[in-house]
Amino acid sequence: MARVSDIYGSMVFNEHTMQERLPKATYKQLMRTIKDGTPLDIDVANVVAHAMKEWAIEKGATHYTHWFQPLTGITSEKHDSFIDPTDDGRAIMTFSGKELIQGEPDASSFPSGGLRATFEARGYTAWDPTSYAFIKDEVLCIPTAFCSYTGEALDKKTPLLRSMRAIENQAHRVLELFGEGADRVVTTLGAEQEYFLISEKDYEKRLDLMLTGRTLFGYPPCKGQELEEHYFGAIRPTVNNFMKELDDELWKLGVSAKTKHNEVAPAQHELAPIFAESNRAIDENLLTMEEMRLLASHYGLVCLQHEKPFESINGSGKHNNWSIAAGKKNLLDPGENPMENLRFLVFLTGVIQAVDEYQELLRMSAASAGNDHRLGANEAPPAIVSIFLGDELGAVVDALIGDHDYTSADRVSMDLGVDVLPNFLKDNTDRNRTSPFAFTGNKFEFRMPGSAQNLSDCNMILNTAMAKSLKEFADAMEEVPAEQFEAAAIDYIKRTLTDHQRIIFNGDGYSDEWPLEAARRGLANNRTTADALPCLVDPKSIALFEEFGVLTEPEVRSRYEVKLEKYNKIMNIEIRTMKRLVRRDYLPAINSYAAEVARNIFQVRGVMADADLSPQEARLRQLTDGAARVNTLLEKLHELHYASLEIADQQERATMNAHQIIPVMDDLREAVDAMEIIVAHEYWPVPTYNEILFYA
Ligand code: ADP
Ligand code: MG
Repeated sequence: MARVSDIYGSMVFNEHTMQERLPKATYKQLMRTIKDGTPLDIDVANVVAHAMKEWAIEKGATHYTHWFQPLTGITSEKHDSFIDPTDDGRAIMTFSGKELIQGEPDASSFPSGGLRATFEARGYTAWDPTSYAFIKDEVLCIPTAFCSYTGEALDKKTPLLRSMRAIENQAHRVLELFGEGADRVVTTLGAEQEYFLISEKDYEKRLDLMLTGRTLFGYPPCKGQELEEHYFGAIRPTVNNFMKELDDELWKLGVSAKTKHNEVAPAQHELAPIFAESNRAIDENLLTMEEMRLLASHYGLVCLQHEKPFESINGSGKHNNWSIAAGKKNLLDPGENPMENLRFLVFLTGVIQAVDEYQELLRMSAASAGNDHRLGANEAPPAIVSIFLGDELGAVVDALIGDHDYTSADRVSMDLGVDVLPNFLKDNTDRNRTSPFAFTGNKFEFRMPGSAQNLSDCNMILNTAMAKSLKEFADAMEEVPAEQFEAAAIDYIKRTLTDHQRIIFNGDGYSDEWPLEAARRGLANNRTTADALPCLVDPKSIALFEEFGVLTEPEVRSRYEVKLEKYNKIMNIEIRTMKRLVRRDYLPAINSYAAEVARNIFQVRGVMADADLSPQEARLRQLTDGAARVNTLLEKLHELHYASLEIADQQERATMNAHQIIPVMDDLREAVDAMEIIVAHEYWPVPTYNEILFYA
């Protein structure tokens, strides 16, 4: 076994490799591009491309690809070989600066939400030097942005990068006020990935899993997660081997996979990396997801990344741990002296304001057909956005709003802005798992995103909304004379916290009372994707994105279109799969078993006229009634399905899917599931939850 330190990052063209492989001047110029965004000239690009190619070939690569994230959210690649045939019948390996910097995938089939129709049919990819190139499966992968020829972003990465620039610019203005504006400011992200592993054999027998990623049918298993024995339990040998190989492969790719453990639900697991700059962290998360799917097959397993593969047991999320760093300073760390405390309070207030103002956008960023089954299912935060601060910080904020002294739990009293805040980082033990947006000592954890999602959307929104808060603070403070800054800042904080205190909620987010209380507070509760998406094209949202140059109005609209269409397409696939399965598998199974019971009654009666056959007759009645109910609901679903396909307006269709069709799908599922538990095992056409979730 190779030592981890030897393999770590061995497949990444990282700073270390660059320094080793590039001429000093080139290295310096490239670093300036990476750190400050200065454009790269073609001569430098040529040198970098050559060094990259030589390095990649030594590592066994034969092809390269621009690796990008179209609006589908998953990564795309098209492999080109380095081969360049010579006149004498041989071939040399070439890779130019131009090929590194720009690519032209024939990308007309990627969703563009109408963007390209009005401009150029083809898009181009452009190197993002802030995320390292890497080798995956003998292919040199170059992380890129994907744009139209007129510069519209056709991907997830470009707006994210723009939002990071926006927050950096505004954070610099705020830090200037504290006399510390020099450092580079980046947002950081640690994405905790949850997933299920099930056996390939069961998977192959479940068309619903194969086509939709989730089970459309299935009665709860006899044993669920109630014994809580799986969470952090010993990891089974096969799964353990999978995880080991996964770690190795990720480490080679420079992905800092850090913790792995069993999750709450049976067959559910989690992997958390060490946080990185948001942009790289998202690339790394996408790579992680891809490796998980690939490597599971080495162990006869399938990795399910859907948000709710199984009804009645926990679904999978992707917690988005988010902070802002200026150089080595974490700006969401309370700090150790009054000035650092004040800076922290300014940033904290900015977050509270941003999350309250743009709560619906944040909720929208986690909206998807899959995540609709998870949010609010008593295992994940509801669709209402609120912030959890914890007792200590909550008391500080209360004191600021109420304009009284702060007394901490251990009775340290202090006069705000003069004394030092307690160290939240170390004693923040009261972690509230039911909050969608929780302060966890020196970062916020946004828990709404689903396991299958690309985190670019929520980070782009968080960053932009935060940039706006910071801008407003800087605008207000830049006119204040330096000697009055502290007092003015505290005053500003008090006012802003007072205006936005409704978003703070330290109670149980899963309780039945919370939605009522949230409604009284005027917080939004957009339960489904169909309800959540329209806020994206709200004038307030468009104004925000435009103000900070993150998305233009057409770019915003295109994203709305793509999300709506995706939702409706997934719904269509699920409905079709459901109908097909009921007609071809479940109804025939129920009917065959009913016939078997009927034959049985008939035969027994033939030999024993006075036998008590009432239990069998009752069972037969249950089966025929059940089949009739399944049939009725199937017809109802069928009608609604066809009616929905007639609706041209995608928003209207989405609303119909969410509010009229899903309830019928739920009923149909329930009717079939009720049969699952009375039909003889050998008649049931698919593996059940008992088998799938507790495989050997
Ligand atoms: P948990 O939430 O499971 O208790 P941790 O709090 O240890 O786990 O961390 C969860 C994730 O948060 C990890 O991926 C970690 O790297 C990340 N994280 C820690 N500090 C920061 C930060 N400053 N910015 C962004 N993510 C962070
Ligand atoms: Mg967490």
